[in-house]
Amino acid sequence: MTSTGNFLQHPNDNDVRPSLSSEELKRWKKQITANPYRNYLYSYPHKTAYREFQPPIPLEQLWLEEPADSFFLYMHIPFCGARCGFCNLFTLPDKRADVHATYVDALERQAKQWSAFTGHKPYARFAIGGGTPTLLAAPQLSRLFRIAREIMGLDTALASISVETSPETITEEKLAILKDNTVDRVSMGIQSFVAAESAAIYRPQNPEVVYRALELLGKYQFPILNLDLIYGLPGQSVESWLYSLNQALLYEPEEIFLYPLYTREHTIVKPGDLLRQQDLRHDCYTAACQLLAEHGYRQYSMRRFAKETAGTSKAILGYSCQEEGMVGLGCGARSYTREVHYASRYGVSRKATESIIADYVSSESYDTADYGIVLSREEQKRRFILKAVLHSEGLKLADYSGRFSASLWNDYPELDLLLQSGLGEVEEGILRLTPEGLGYSDSIGDWFISGEIRERMEGFILP
Ligand code: SF4
Repeated sequence: MTSTGNFLQHPNDNDVRPSLSSEELKRWKKQITANPYRNYLYSYPHKTAYREFQPPIPLEQLWLEEPADSFFLYMHIPFCGARCGFCNLFTLPDKRADVHATYVDALERQAKQWSAFTGHKPYARFAIGGGTPTLLAAPQLSRLFRIAREIMGLDTALASISVETSPETITEEKLAILKDNTVDRVSMGIQSFVAAESAAIYRPQNPEVVYRALELLGKYQFPILNLDLIYGLPGQSVESWLYSLNQALLYEPEEIFLYPLYTREHTIVKPGDLLRQQDLRHDCYTAACQLLAEHGYRQYSMRRFAKETAGTSKAILGYSCQEEGMVGLGCGARSYTREVHYASRYGVSRKATESIIADYVSSESYDTADYGIVLSREEQKRRFILKAVLHSEGLKLADYSGRFSASLWNDYPELDLLLQSGLGEVEEGILRLTPEGLGYSDSIGDWFISGEIRERMEGFILP
């Protein structure tokens, strides 16, 4: 190994990797570990990096050229009973049934236009998310499945199907609709089993309602029940957090997502509101990892834990998360092709979401992408890496070279810092985070964002 300035030349390849002194390496690691919750990259690039397309891109051309073998159909229902204090998703508190029906009318018009562009590939996955999809009345919920099958061409026998729900909105009638439509996974956001903690995030929730919903879900025996919980809530302690987690475990969910609490200047709970209390998020995370391992859950990412046996009996078509082909119907849904990500405009305030939804439902034409980002080859590479490395499956180095005809280490020598710091490792040609590194997924993701995307995200002003 030879040293050239701040980089090392490895003897077996032409790869160049950063060579830091042990002090510099310590400083780098501290920078990653000192603030683990600086940015949540649930997609890359984030929607705040999207801009108007001038001119808009015709969808026909975009989807015709999409190389993925199968697609992922997503429907977004941007309505909730009320906005949770931490939420920065695209959703509008609105319970009116006529507003929902008008929205599904628009979604159906959109589906009729899009099916002509996307109908040439089968769907391996279908998800209805939000917002709160089960806020819709039963007939509208049924309609979504009809649109998926009869207009978009979804074969429910070959696709895994997932629906998000909430304790206050599920009923026997709605669960029967999900069951009839062979839903494989039902995901319910609970966040906390402690009433005072739920109230502190503006989500007043009587634990009795949660227990009733869980009993009801138990009766329908979906192949995968997922429960979402949040740690770092105002007034929460590690003990009360483990109490909530233990309550969830009583219902033996196949999957559990654990989210650290994030607040932003535009969320109802502000970052300043949490300054008075000690930040226990990493302690809660560590305690949860241990408890879930004791209960036989495998960790798949910083947020996702599941039983290895979790799954459906359907013969699902192949779908690689590394590929694209996500067809997002509805206002606020994102669509991904390999080179273009697009959506409707993004907003969080009531005024902004109301106006964006009003534009969507009054539209007659949905055949262009107007707002999004064209991914340069550089951003396609970063996305490919982030999607793989932040999950326990890791990144197969051969997949990267196969897709980009390039060496990962030559392209991004700085990734070697993960190995040198013990936050990552390479085993049998796969780069993955170590258990320690997984706990810092958010700060590692934030560190790896390109300068250009960071600039676009920071330049975004929420309307
Ligand atoms: S967190 Fe979920 S339930 Fe709460 S407002 Fe946001 S989308 Fe609705």
